[in-house]
Amino acid sequence: MSDVTRRIAENLAAVRGRIAAAAGRAGRPADAIELVAVTKYVPAQIAAVLAEAGCHALGESRPQALWAKAAELANPAVRWHLVGHLQRNKIARTLPLVALVHSVDTLRLLTAIDEEAGLAGRPAQVLLEVNVSGDRAKMGLPPAQLAPTIQRAAELANVSIRGLMGMASLTGVAAATRRDFGRLRELRDQLTAECPANVSLAELSMGMSGDYEIAIEEGSTIVRIGSALFEGIPA
Ligand SMILES: *Cc1c(COP(=O)(O)O)cnc(C)c1O
Repeated sequence: MSDVTRRIAENLAAVRGRIAAAAGRAGRPADAIELVAVTKYVPAQIAAVLAEAGCHALGESRPQALWAKAAELANPAVRWHLVGHLQRNKIARTLPLVALVHSVDTLRLLTAIDEEAGLAGRPAQVLLEVNVSGDRAKMGLPPAQLAPTIQRAAELANVSIRGLMGMASLTGVAAATRRDFGRLRELRDQLTAECPANVSLAELSMGMSGDYEIAIEEGSTIVRIGSALFEGIPA
């Protein structure tokens, strides 16, 4: 086993252990939380090592990087997640490669995804990105726009809404992080009550290397973790 392989396996085991512990504190089973390994810091060969170690959900934040890694990485067990912004001119090439788009932040993008998925004959699975912290003006739907966006989404035949995605403000203050994640979960709970039958808000994609344990305690079902998995790996 090479040093890189060993280190990745150790990092993965450590992250999984902390996920399980946080899930336990929240009274949930560890397998209620999906780990998406964000591979944007490493080349495809390192992402491949992670997949061989058993982590099959991989994420990229830039569509072009996702295309390149998906082409290089031949492991058929891998399911790709796009966690960053999707430009409309990149939809057609991205959709066939991904299991889930986490970051739909406008009705315009959602409608364009629906059109493209209709042409491809394969429904797209998406999360709506919400600007819960308020300090990232350009990223995510304002909470007030969620209900109307969901109503409209319910009329689109080729997109399937699976839940919400959000990030905590970058203060690094645990109480503020917990408040942002708690707010996203509350929004989800409120919206679920009035949700059209063909929309599900079951998934909450929240939590990154610095805050995933808090996110899980606050109800996250998908964590997007990059740097913690690649500690000690030369770039
Ligand atoms: C990079 C990135 C992550 C992972 O960040 P880390 O702090 O390295 O775990 C998660 N989500 C998104 C949207 C990202 O761009």
